[in-house]
Amino acid sequence: MNPLEEIDVLCPYCNEIITLLIDCSQSQQSYTEDCFVCCRPIVVIVHLPLYDPLYDPMAMDSTAEQGTDDDLALSVQVRREDD
Ligand SMILES: [Zn+2]
Repeated sequence: MNPLEEIDVLCPYCNEIITLLIDCSQSQQSYTEDCFVCCRPIVVIVHLPLYDPLYDPMAMDSTAEQGTDDDLALSVQVRREDD
């Protein structure tokens, strides 16, 4: 498995698409990354259910496709630092 995943998100300040490189070796992490476009600090919150021992796939919406190995169920939230 690729330990680094590239994820496109929208900057909460300028709405430009920026690509984040997520370190998948940690199940949950949050950090601040400056937007490449407007240079303002974006709070990035990463959640990797596959690596979470408390994660129960049966609790998820069963309409989600299973077995696609390019889908890590990687969840990334971004928000303004001053929110
Ligand atoms: Zn920006």
